[in-house]
Amino acid sequence: LKYTLEQLSAYAKQYGFIYQGSEIYGGLANTWDYGPLGVHLKNNIKQLWWKKFVSQNKLNVGLDSSILLNPKTWEATGHLDGFKDPLMDCKECKTRYRADNLIADTSKGKVDADGWSYDKMYQYIIDNEIHCPHCGGFNFTEIREFNLMFKTQQGVTSESNNDIYLRPETAQGIFLNFKNIQRTSRKKVPFGIGQVGKSFRNEITPGNYIFRTREFEQMELEFFCVPGTELEWFKYWKEFSKQFLLTCGLKEENIQFHDHPKEKLSFYSNATTDILFAYPWGFDELWGIASRTDYDLSRHQEFSGENLEYLDPNTNESYLPYVIEPSLGVERLFLAILLDSLEEETLEDGSSRTLLRISKDLAPYQVNVLPLVKKYHAEKAEEVYDLLLENFTAFYDETGNIGRRYRRADAIGTPYCVTIDNQTEEDGTVTIRDRDSMEQIRLHINELTGYFKKLF
Ligand code: ATP
Repeated sequence: LKYTLEQLSAYAKQYGFIYQGSEIYGGLANTWDYGPLGVHLKNNIKQLWWKKFVSQNKLNVGLDSSILLNPKTWEATGHLDGFKDPLMDCKECKTRYRADNLIADTSKGKVDADGWSYDKMYQYIIDNEIHCPHCGGFNFTEIREFNLMFKTQQGVTSESNNDIYLRPETAQGIFLNFKNIQRTSRKKVPFGIGQVGKSFRNEITPGNYIFRTREFEQMELEFFCVPGTELEWFKYWKEFSKQFLLTCGLKEENIQFHDHPKEKLSFYSNATTDILFAYPWGFDELWGIASRTDYDLSRHQEFSGENLEYLDPNTNESYLPYVIEPSLGVERLFLAILLDSLEEETLEDGSSRTLLRISKDLAPYQVNVLPLVKKYHAEKAEEVYDLLLENFTAFYDETGNIGRRYRRADAIGTPYCVTIDNQTEEDGTVTIRDRDSMEQIRLHINELTGYFKKLF
């Protein structure tokens, strides 16, 4: 039984995963802050991706580029003129629509508004008497363009030549550094460059909790390969990405590939797939994987005047490599992981517990340290806590009865609890409780570090 978004967000707030942004000021729409548990989980997700795609991957290297890039970047990519949506408002209820969606949603056949002029879309809406789906009105503003990039000014004056944009994807910082990285890392094609960082899009309809926000984080790989081999690599990264999701603990039946049909591909792409996850509102995009040919490099070569070709040392031929791009949102994966891990488990005695059955690699805390009775065991427990903090993410919890503290540890997915009791004073042993089986064993304090090192 899956949690609804409402139940999940209540849970995430209660335990300190996610709070509404700027809450004491009444919030700021669609912003979210990650609390003590959320920040651990987010970091663990990013670290796991980094490990699998970069630091422990023979094929790839890493990068951390600026969020602010020379605005020419966005001329080259087409973001400055292509990153626009045709917007119109209902004059009566003020609901804002994308004109092309309005056409597609209300007409019987599926209208593909791509390539239509704004005049043509507007005329279609009038001629076909498409009414406002919200209030039923038939009185729209004309269609305006809307740029999804956040614009700001660099420097103190607000002249337009100081216009600068927050990046809408991390990918372009990679393309801009392709030459630098290839030269300095001495990597030979095929190789990839991975990056994790914030991106910003002034989305018209953000929502579904943390699924679509205006500020978000991406984990992107640009994989450069010999032209003609791209479809093999596309297949390779599709499978690799799916395996990564399984490593994150997502259930296979909740993951689906959606291959874009030929006629829906961007003009520069010869293959694109979305990995969809079964979110509470249905299967939706978690991860986009695209074969982008040499589009990005060739555009940057043209606009910068720099030669971005790669000289193949074996054949002495120069060419622009083709690119496979798996692009994953941190928050979308965060949400999928919580949805697939959280359960209400019925126990043998008929009682139930909230259990976050999250992978050990991702759990916000690895170990909870609990004195059985605060008054008698806190001092020893603090010692054990200090010891474990040297190697593990540990949490100390001393208030409430022990059963309740175990339940709390289960609810936040802590794989192990270490409990200090009377026997600890006598023989130096503690109890270790396993989250999933709830089984308990005793170990000497001196053995703890070695024991957990084997498990994590
Ligand atoms: P969508 O169709 O859902 O808007 P997209 O196709 O525009 O997504 P891409 O440009 O392919 O998305 O971005 C790659 C990935 O970045 C997406 O698969 C998603 O995981 C993440 N992402 C994109 N936009 C957002 C957003 N507004 N909020 C959170 N994550 C996002």
